[in-house]
Amino acid sequence: MPVGADLKVGDEVNSWCTKCHEMRMHKVRALRPDGPPRVVCICPEERERNYRPKPPNSRKKKSAPEPEVNPWPTLIQECTDDKLRDYSIQERFWEGEYIKHRKYGIGIVTEMLDVNKMAVWFEDKKRIMVFNK
Ligand SMILES: [Zn+2]
Repeated sequence: MPVGADLKVGDEVNSWCTKCHEMRMHKVRALRPDGPPRVVCICPEERERNYRPKPPNSRKKKSAPEPEVNPWPTLIQECTDDKLRDYSIQERFWEGEYIKHRKYGIGIVTEMLDVNKMAVWFEDKKRIMVFNK
């Protein structure tokens, strides 16, 4: 059955209002043999439009939050041996420091999360590391 084929002139129907940008009560003003009925929104505009039983597909699709881009490949270019410190849980580290972890390799401290917690990017991913213990 075509959209709105069960409607009659004068019926009230929920339809997408292209002006109000929401589903609104519309009054059926005219039926057409070859298309959806013409409807009028109850909003003050009173403009006739096609009956739309559903909102249009929203263009802004909710997508998963973008994964964090690993800054490691960029930052590692500025790493020199003298900047590199061996990671040890007893030592204090600072944002921007390069650390050498015996398991994960070279990491870059990008954020201090707490007095003894920091975010460190490694080649594969970001890890939360504890220090100053
Ligand atoms: Zn409207």
